Amino acid sequence: MAIVKCPACGKRISSLAKACRHCGAQLGKMDTAQQHQLARQRWRRQVDQAANATYLALAMLVAGTIWWWGAPPQGWFFPPPVATLILMPFGLALYVVGRVRLGWLRLARNRPPPE
Ligand SMILES: [Zn+2]
Repeated sequence: MAIVKCPACGKRISSLAKACRHCGAQLGKMDTAQQHQLARQRWRRQVDQAANATYLALAMLVAGTIWWWGAPPQGWFFPPPVATLILMPFGLALYVVGRVRLGWLRLARNRPPPE
């Protein structure tokens, strides 16, 4: 017996389990190809979520920049408006987290088995 990742939810389960005790996926009724397909779908969802986080982060950075320039008194004044002071650090942090997660998911050891 070994501890393996559930192909559906990614949590740790016994290799002998007929069903995942976390998400209830019926692993006993699946062949290896179906389990690999589930793993690929889960990986794809995670990549999409990480990519969406970076898009949201870029939108926050752009909004923070526009707000800084557009809020009275107009121009690049210090200190920047409060909205900019909130949007830009959080946008930057979210962007870095999203890129690191994307890089992590694309490492060979984290990729799902090929078709
Ligand atoms: Zn599961």
